Amino acid sequence: MGKVKIDRNLLLGILEAAKNSHPDEFIALISGSGNVMRELIFLPSISGSSSALIHLEMLPIGMKVFGTVHSHPSPNCRPSEDDLQLFTRFGKYHIIVCYPYTENSWKCYNRKGEEVELEVI
Ligand SMILES: [Zn+2]
Repeated sequence: MGKVKIDRNLLLGILEAAKNSHPDEFIALISGSGNVMRELIFLPSISGSSSALIHLEMLPIGMKVFGTVHSHPSPNCRPSEDDLQLFTRFGKYHIIVCYPYTENSWKCYNRKGEEVELEVI
């Protein structure tokens, strides 16, 4: 299986989406195949209801959910208490991108909120 990686175009798309949402937060699920994150799944609401879980069942076969991505409108990429709650609900890998949303202003965490390395390919 090897280490999980992220497609650079996806990363750039995430940073772009974060910029466009600023100063609001942007949130999505990260999907892909094999061990490569390749696309986003936008959900109308990811918190506070179980409806998001229903959507997950509608994923095409072979696609999987790696975890979540969301943005912080501040330069702080650390997960909040709410973020840690979210991390336990969807997948194993969670990206936070923070202001100013450059290729250096993001981090990936596991579901315990520990930083993990993601190779950009
Ligand atoms: Zn957060």
